[in-house]
Amino acid sequence: MDFHITGTAGQVRTGTIRTQDAHLETPHLLPVVNFYCGGTKRSLFGGGIFRTLKEFVTNDAAVTFGNDYSPYFKAVMTSISSLTDFSINQTRFQDYLSTPLKQRPEFESFSGALFVDSGGYKILQEGSLTGTNFSLDVDQQTAYGLQRGFGADIAVNLDSPLSPEDTYRQRLKKMETTVGYAEEFAQLSNSATETRYLTLHGYTQSMLARYLDIVDRVLPQRLDKWFDGIAIGSLVPLRNNPDRLVRAIRAVKHLLHDRQLDHLPIHVFGISGQTMPLLACLGVDSFDSASYLHSAINGTYFTSFFDSVQLSEAPFEECSCPVCSTPALVSRMHGDAEYQKDILGPVAMHNLIIQKQALQELRDQVLLGDPDQLAEYLERKYRNRRLQKTALRVINDTLRPIIQ
Ligand SMILES: [Zn+2]
Repeated sequence: MDFHITGTAGQVRTGTIRTQDAHLETPHLLPVVNFYCGGTKRSLFGGGIFRTLKEFVTNDAAVTFGNDYSPYFKAVMTSISSLTDFSINQTRFQDYLSTPLKQRPEFESFSGALFVDSGGYKILQEGSLTGTNFSLDVDQQTAYGLQRGFGADIAVNLDSPLSPEDTYRQRLKKMETTVGYAEEFAQLSNSATETRYLTLHGYTQSMLARYLDIVDRVLPQRLDKWFDGIAIGSLVPLRNNPDRLVRAIRAVKHLLHDRQLDHLPIHVFGISGQTMPLLACLGVDSFDSASYLHSAINGTYFTSFFDSVQLSEAPFEECSCPVCSTPALVSRMHGDAEYQKDILGPVAMHNLIIQKQALQELRDQVLLGDPDQLAEYLERKYRNRRLQKTALRVINDTLRPIIQ
């Protein structure tokens, strides 16, 4: 994998990540997609609204009406733990893993990069992947085997995510467990072609430093000899605390800089809220989220990156995205469809486009290369918002540092 910086404004960066199959502009948002939802080939493996979304992923004529949705799915996030989100038996589980996703005729028109998470959080909670007539204990070797069976282009080690309620000893034990997994993952995948990310856990500078010290002790060579990028886990519990999120990302950047690892791209798991552009300014290069989909399931239609309305009040005519510009899809979003999935699937697609547009705008601003202009742009965006104070601190630190 290659990661290149293509533009900077102050300390903010934009770049490209090239994997075997994809060319991603950063900062990049990977939509979470659940590919196997208990169904069979005939139904694109099922899943209600997930199925409609998969029709967008595969540019199915049932939803495209001549538009091309592949630019929104240049990379997607999925997880081995999602395989058992729906009650399935062992035969179906094995069938799902029998052919790598992109080699299946049903998904042949999907050409994006597939980032397959190890599902550590769910596995930690339940200890195994469980179906109707089977239970699979998941260790690092099993997790990596499942990622490969899925057809991962980007894979990450199994991990044991931290919880804010953990005691000091519990945290330390989890960190050591995760680093043990990372070492095993590095060895297992050494001759493979996937892009490899190392999970990094911690909320504070001292925890993150401790974690990286353990990594340095355990891995036989510098971590960038083994890993192509860093994936920050454990931040989901902080998602409603923007100041702590910002502090955690700042600490990661600082520690990586000290270790001369600035050239590694940084991914943050499960965060895509209104802090996303700010975290991007601090140096996060990619994000993943299912919020576009969960919002749609709750009947929420995004009117901008910051604002939303109930679907019944959605001003479709004000949006120029391909979904809202297609009368047949607008009619479905108005409720003119037999199944709920056909009403809410297009809403999810629209919501994702709105989130993607926000990062595209940010990238365009960074490429102009003018810190003052970028600062003014962000100040305008966050004016009178809940995050205004956090935003101003980030803007001042990254774009208007005090010259000493
Ligand atoms: Zn739209």
